[in-house]
Amino acid sequence: EKHIVIVGAGHAGGTVAAMLRQLAHKGRITLIGEEMLAPYQRPPLSKDFLKGLVDIESLKLKHDEFYTAHAIDLKLNVAVEAIDPLTKTVRCQTGEILAYDILIIATGARARPLDVPGHDLAGIFTLRNVADAQALRRALEPSCRLAIIGGGYVGLEVAASARALGVEVTVLERDTRVLARVASPVLSEFFIEQHRAHGVEILCGVNLLGFEGCQGKLSGIRLSDGRLISCDSALVGIGAQPNEEIARRAGLACPGGIEVDEATRTSDPFIYAIGDVTFRPLPLYGSHKCRVESVPSAIEQAKQVAHAIVGRPPPPPEVPWFWSDQYNIKLQIAGIAIGADQNILRGTRADGKFSVFHLRGDHVVAVEAINSTPDFMLGRQLIARKTPILANNINDISKPLKETIY
Ligand code: FAD
Repeated sequence: EKHIVIVGAGHAGGTVAAMLRQLAHKGRITLIGEEMLAPYQRPPLSKDFLKGLVDIESLKLKHDEFYTAHAIDLKLNVAVEAIDPLTKTVRCQTGEILAYDILIIATGARARPLDVPGHDLAGIFTLRNVADAQALRRALEPSCRLAIIGGGYVGLEVAASARALGVEVTVLERDTRVLARVASPVLSEFFIEQHRAHGVEILCGVNLLGFEGCQGKLSGIRLSDGRLISCDSALVGIGAQPNEEIARRAGLACPGGIEVDEATRTSDPFIYAIGDVTFRPLPLYGSHKCRVESVPSAIEQAKQVAHAIVGRPPPPPEVPWFWSDQYNIKLQIAGIAIGADQNILRGTRADGKFSVFHLRGDHVVAVEAINSTPDFMLGRQLIARKTPILANNINDISKPLKETIY
């Protein structure tokens, strides 16, 4: 029976270890992670965990005893520093060398740093792990001023959580709209409205020159137009970059993330990669490849690799999806608006309940649903089954969405 070594004990790594046992893999499984905690979910770090509504224990994917009970050798606080594909071994920072039959790289991504003057002042945070969330939480005293650099999902979710804690929040976004990389303009406008209604100041189209401080502590952010945004703390939320260095040094193809196929194979036949670190195909969208940073993508890839390793037929490809919670808004996105030639609004923004359907011809390629879970669910099915629809019926909310199907 094969020894499976998994590098990175995060969402993808933890899921694949458990799934291999579920699929009756009998051989050794070693799961190595550089963090102190057993695999846990990150989404609450910017939401309920930051607000202090849930504890660390509830973040864990499995209780600590699960790993011993299922003969998964979980090595925590251990970083892998090198992979040698020729001898099929990994070298840990501790000096330990481990041989594998199959290696799964699940090293995730890290927060992109902002290398501007003053970046090392106290009071500047990024958010990727529990330790980051705890440090940020300690800084969020009621009435203190938090500047958030980057109006992406992490930045906006932290803005909503910080408002719930009574913090004064300013979001600084370089683009002309928030969520520019990941959502349509209608959604950007909606989220700007909602955040402003909750007292968040949002400045778009601004460039940051540097952080300013006093006695080593952050006091403000200087913009290129000369303005100084006074603040006590800042969160840098400008995206993530893949932890691909060990794979690159091992000679694996890494064109911005570790390149994998549908079954998550890398360019080495004995090495797979899953989760945020991968540059992956989206089989429902032709030959398109990209990095997808979401829990559903990590789980889908964990399923693919576990099936491949135990010799089961590959599960069908899934529609990529994502969610975000801010205030009482539930955003759910199914699919990717690649090649869309029209988008249609169903519902109205003023009701706080609407969806944007992105179509290519008479096929749905993506749905962005605000507090509209049924639209999201049906949209996901339409994308997966490539069902043609009657576009003209989509914006007629007097008719159930099902009636848009031929
Ligand atoms: P990770 O969970 O990051 O795990 C990778 C692990 O590998 C880490 O523990 C890392 O320390 C470890 N590691 C790296 N290098 C090494 C090494 N050399 N040796 C040993 N260990 C190593 N997704 C959603 O779908 N919805 C959301 O609402 C959402 N909210 C999010 C909010 C926040 C604040 C963050 C940070 C992420 C959020 N995500 C969300 C994204 C989601 O958490 C990730 O897509 C998911 O965690 C990816 O899993 P992963 O295992 O690939 O990476």
